[in-house]
Amino acid sequence: MRVYNFSAGPATMPLEVLERAQSELTDWHGSGMSVMEMSHRGKEFVGIAEQAEARMRSLLSVPDDYEVLFLQGGATGQFAAIPLNLTAPGDSAAYVNTGAWSTKAIAEAARFVRTQVLADESQSNYSSVPEEGSLHVPSDAAYLHYTLNETIGGVEFPYIPDSGAVPLVTDASSTILSRPIDVSRFGVIYAGAQKNLGPAGLVVVIVRKDLLGRARPETSTVLDWTAMAASGSMLNTPPTLSWYLVALVLEWIEQQGGVSEMARRNRAKADLLYGAIDDSDFYSNPVQPRARSWMNVPFLVPDPALEKEFVTQAAAAGLSGLSGHRSVGGMRASIYNAMPLEGVTALVAFMTDFEKQNG
Ligand SMILES: *Cc1c(COP(=O)(O)O)cnc(C)c1O
Repeated sequence: MRVYNFSAGPATMPLEVLERAQSELTDWHGSGMSVMEMSHRGKEFVGIAEQAEARMRSLLSVPDDYEVLFLQGGATGQFAAIPLNLTAPGDSAAYVNTGAWSTKAIAEAARFVRTQVLADESQSNYSSVPEEGSLHVPSDAAYLHYTLNETIGGVEFPYIPDSGAVPLVTDASSTILSRPIDVSRFGVIYAGAQKNLGPAGLVVVIVRKDLLGRARPETSTVLDWTAMAASGSMLNTPPTLSWYLVALVLEWIEQQGGVSEMARRNRAKADLLYGAIDDSDFYSNPVQPRARSWMNVPFLVPDPALEKEFVTQAAAAGLSGLSGHRSVGGMRASIYNAMPLEGVTALVAFMTDFEKQNG
């Protein structure tokens, strides 16, 4: 029996994708071998990789002047790759700090560039994002970086910041493909796979071509976007099985009706869950409504002593992965693309019962 898995990442995958992978596991399309046993340079795997890129481009309407790279090292690797690819020693880069992941991105970048933090939401206890139009981006900044969705705090930008002529860079790890996005507004969009794209092992980097060719000479080639673009993201052996599974997830999204259909479903799930929280005097969500994430929904009960009870009883009812991040406590439901509405309906029913018994 499968549970509803609300884990933040690695996270739930579409059952259809897992079953398809299972059926192809030992013999992919009559090749007599598993995808994980194939040469990454053979025509079978190259075909899988090309299909993944083509689907990513069509689902997100990626313009032709962007590269789509499939790299390793996670989003965390890109925290360093961004300054290494976009700055020279002595340059400065602008950041917005909206929570745990921005904080990590800033700390890593500070090893390579002067970081200027234009807005710091620690004063709001990371419960919001800066007002639209409030960021003053210095024209000499090499780029402006922000975290589109803070997976731990459950804070999501409801708008794309205006960075003028300064390239805009965003960490979209936990929100990519959950709703349409205007890629042409960005210099770089990057996203680790294990939230909304598939299993861990890959990070997708969408980079505007005019930003290539600037990597510092000492940049490790596996982090060098230009070298990776020139080699079709196969400068070294890629995580072929993860790449194949991401390709299946992209095909699944396409079959479901694409990113606009994902957005419709995600909005319905988020409305249902936030509505249940707001309608109760028992549960609360600490995030300002305009910045509430559609993907990660943290919530609290009045007495922290009840948290363990909530998580244990929920797990017994087939609702798994609801503990909040260890750094913030409380509960958190991650409701990515692959979480069906029925999972959120079951969670809300459980929450209502739990409140009746403990409220
Ligand atoms: C999960 C996550 C990361 C870290 O991803 P890794 O693959 O572990 O490096 C970075 N940023 C955001 C927004 C995330 O959700």
